Amino acid sequence: MTKYRVYLDMDNVLVDFDKGAVEAHRLDYDEFLRERTDGVWDIRGTLARLQGLPEPELSMEDFWKPICDIGFKFWQDLEKMPWTDQLLSMMDSWDLENKTFIVTDPSTIHCDFAVEGKVRCCKRTLLRCPSRLVPIARKSLLAKPDTVLIDDKEENVADFIAEGGQAILFPHKGNILYREADYPLYHVVSELKKLEQM
Ligand SMILES: [Mg+2]
Repeated sequence: MTKYRVYLDMDNVLVDFDKGAVEAHRLDYDEFLRERTDGVWDIRGTLARLQGLPEPELSMEDFWKPICDIGFKFWQDLEKMPWTDQLLSMMDSWDLENKTFIVTDPSTIHCDFAVEGKVRCCKRTLLRCPSRLVPIARKSLLAKPDTVLIDDKEENVADFIAEGGQAILFPHKGNILYREADYPLYHVVSELKKLEQM
């Protein structure tokens, strides 16, 4: 049983944002996976290469446009990751005090209906009450000694720790733990156990 309040990141931890983004750009996801650079979180360079563009990476505007054109359905229809059910049920069995929340950058700076889509995804795909969803652009504002952020973005993990919280980097192709990205739960469980023993 965990003594911590746990904030589980949504995109690329529970739902496949990268796959959704690649398909919004009408590119083949398997080809994207072969082409992406391990350890690089920002996928705009890979998308530019796959589109045969001379630029080193897509501009932010060009990256977000096809996603925003789809609207809330982009976020609503993101697929679960292969381990999502196992991760959620593992947290349910550890967290007897109901202290696990799903945390997500609302992306409203880029897309108007992202929060609406994320609420629907939380309910329909993750089968969680949207009252467990915390949309917040700066996750580090939630940092306290008794909180743990589980997130695939190295910057978010570093910021959360700098603000006094605990954090676990979730293995993903886009971060330094890319070698463990196919079986990320081993790392998460081992890090949670270490925190429990502190
Ligand atoms: Mg993420």
